[in-house]
Amino acid sequence: MDFHIPTEYIDDLDRFKSFLSKRLTPNISSWYSEGKIPRHFFGELGEERFLGFDNDNGSLKEQPVLKQSLLMEQLGTISPGVGVAVLVQISLGTKGVLLFGNEEQKGRLIPPASRGEVLLCVGNTEPSAGSDVASLGATAAKVDGGWVLDGTKSYVTNGYISDYALITAVSDADAPRNNRISMFLVDLSAEGITRTPLNKKVWIPSDLTRIQLRKVFVPDRDLIGEKGRGFQQVLEIFTNSRITISALTLGTAAGAFQNGLDHAKKRSIFGQKVIDFQAKSFEAADFYARLEAARLALLKTCWEKDSGGDFRLGASIVKYLTVDLAREIGIWAADLFGAASVVFDHPVHKFPMDAWAASLGEGTQDVQKLIIFREMMKRDGH
Ligand SMILES: Cc1cc2nc3c(=O)[nH]c(=O)nc-3n(C[C@H](O)[C@H](O)[C@H](O)COP(=O)(O)OP(=O)(O)OC[C@H]3O[C@@H](n4cnc5c(N)ncnc54)[C@H](O)[C@@H]3O)c2cc1C
Repeated sequence: MDFHIPTEYIDDLDRFKSFLSKRLTPNISSWYSEGKIPRHFFGELGEERFLGFDNDNGSLKEQPVLKQSLLMEQLGTISPGVGVAVLVQISLGTKGVLLFGNEEQKGRLIPPASRGEVLLCVGNTEPSAGSDVASLGATAAKVDGGWVLDGTKSYVTNGYISDYALITAVSDADAPRNNRISMFLVDLSAEGITRTPLNKKVWIPSDLTRIQLRKVFVPDRDLIGEKGRGFQQVLEIFTNSRITISALTLGTAAGAFQNGLDHAKKRSIFGQKVIDFQAKSFEAADFYARLEAARLALLKTCWEKDSGGDFRLGASIVKYLTVDLAREIGIWAADLFGAASVVFDHPVHKFPMDAWAASLGEGTQDVQKLIIFREMMKRDGH
C-alpha cells in the first residue's frame, strides 16, 4: 500500500480550504438560521472542480475516491450539514447515473451535474422500508411510452433543492423479492410530485424532504440501469458512497475534536487550564489515537477502491468506526464547553447532532455489522 498522497491532491485540498474560507465560512451562520443552502454554492463548487470530476484535456474524469474523501473530510470539519448536501450530489445522485446510466443519460446529466447546474438526489427510503430495502412499496406500472409511479419516499436529502431524483419502485410485483424493483430518473418538477421539507435538527442546513408521487409519468428513456435490478443498483450506490460518508464523518469527529481541544487549552477552571487536568489530557490522547486509526482505515479503503480492489469490507468497517468515534467525540467536545454548547448558534452544537445523523446515511451501525460479519465469514471460507 502506498501511503504517499499525490501532490496534486494536496494542492486541490489547499485550494478547497481557501475556497471554503471565502465561500462557506462567512455564510454559515445565515445558512444555518435559514436552513437552506443557496443553489449558487453548487455552481461555485462545480466551477472550481469540487463536484467529483476533473477536467482531463477537455473531457470529464471522475476523481479518485481518495481525492474526494480528502475534500469531504475537510468540509466535515466545518459543516457536516453542507457536507452531506455536497456528498448527495456527488456520491449518490451523480454517482448513480455514472454507475448505471446509459451513454445518452450520462451525456445528458453528468456534465451539468459536474458543474452544479443540475442537482440530483436518491429517493429510496419509505415509511415501511429503510434498512430492509427490498421491502419497499412504491410502484411503477408500465404504460405506453413509459411508466407511472406511485408512492412515498420519506427521507430524501436534497429532495427539495434537487432537479431530479433516482427513485426506486416495484416494477415486477410477481418477481422474486430481489428482482421486483427498478430505478427511475424522476423530474421533481413533474406533475404528481409533492415535496414537503421536514423540520429536522441534524445536518443543518441541508434539506430532508418527503417526496410523494401520485401517477407520475416517467418516459422509457429515464429507466436507469436494468429493469428488475433497482435493488442491487441502489445498494451498489450506497456501497460506493459509504467511503465518502465515512470521510465526512471523520471530518465531523475531527472538527469536534479541534473545537474541544482549542477551548480546553484556553478555559481556566480551579486555577488551571482544562486541558491540564490529566483526566482531560488522557481523553484527548485517546481520541487523537483513534482518529489516526480511523483515518488510516479510510485511506486503506480509498486505496482499495482506487486500485480496483474489493472495498466492501473496508467501507463498512470505516463507516462503523467513524460513526462511533464521531458520536463519542461530539459529546466530549460539547461537554468541554459546558452550558454554552446547548445554544443552537454555538459552533460546537452541531457536532453531536450531525454525528447522530451520520449513523443513518448509507446504513445504520447494525447494517454495517451485518455486512462486516458477512464479508468476514466469506474471507473465513464460508
Ligand atoms: C438525516 C437523514 C438523511 C437521509 N437521507 C436519505 C436519502 O437521501 N435517501 C434515502 O433514500 N434515505 C435517506 N435517509 C433514510 C435512511 O437511509 C434510513 O433512515 C436508514 O436506512 C434506516 O432506515 P429506517 O429509518 O427505516 O430504520 P429501520 O430500518 O426501521 O431500523 C430501525 C432500527 O433497527 C435496526 N436494524 C435494522 N435491521 C437490523 C438487523 N438486521 N439486525 C439488527 N438491527 C437492525 C437499525 O439499525 C435501527 O436501529 C436519511 C435519513 C436521515 C435521518
